[in-house]
Amino acid sequence: MSGLLVIVSGPSGAGKGTVLKELFAKRADCVSSVSATTRQPRQGEVDGVNYYFLSPETFEQWVEEDRFIEWVQVFKNRYGTPKEFVVAKQNEGFNVVLEIDVQGGVKVMEKIPDCVSIFLTPPSMSNLEKRLRNRGTESEEQISLRLSEAKRELAARKYYKYTVINDTVERAVEDIISILNAENCLTHRVKQVE
Ligand code: 5GP
Repeated sequence: MSGLLVIVSGPSGAGKGTVLKELFAKRADCVSSVSATTRQPRQGEVDGVNYYFLSPETFEQWVEEDRFIEWVQVFKNRYGTPKEFVVAKQNEGFNVVLEIDVQGGVKVMEKIPDCVSIFLTPPSMSNLEKRLRNRGTESEEQISLRLSEAKRELAARKYYKYTVINDTVERAVEDIISILNAENCLTHRVKQVE
């Protein structure tokens, strides 16, 4: 059986990274898609693992060759989901998880309506603010920028089929696993038993 295509979006600080890491640790049938980007690698990021780091020229060439399921431009950088890996892994039976922004998420939903779209949200704005501050990596200016971006992203929640509230990582992971299990029981996904 072909695996599910799962979109996970949510504001920065909602805890997507932590929740998905835990999901991958628990479920060997779930893999992360590797996106391509034109942004510079951050310290510790590995090409082909965190992202495929492409030059703007190569990215453009991939766009022209129709190698992306979707791509977006965020400020000066471009991000995209390469098709080949996703399709290959789904055919092997893996659920492929795309951790992408809402702009890209909506594009995938339009193109592949059978995907599973999940919006991960913090329990409240004050909780989100606390998480961003606890990271300790951002300036006051960046925090207020991220908070206004978060408000904009939260408004896109209505396009997603599921909402998971990240009050604790364990609960959020459990909810995602329940969603995947239920999606795999949808009548059209279950082969007729002879
Ligand atoms: P960062 O530069 O911090 O790694 O990611 C910035 C934003 O780009 C995040 O919201 C992340 O989810 C989003 N992103 C990463 N890969 C993709 C992708 O392939 N497509 C889209 N649409 N967004 C992506």
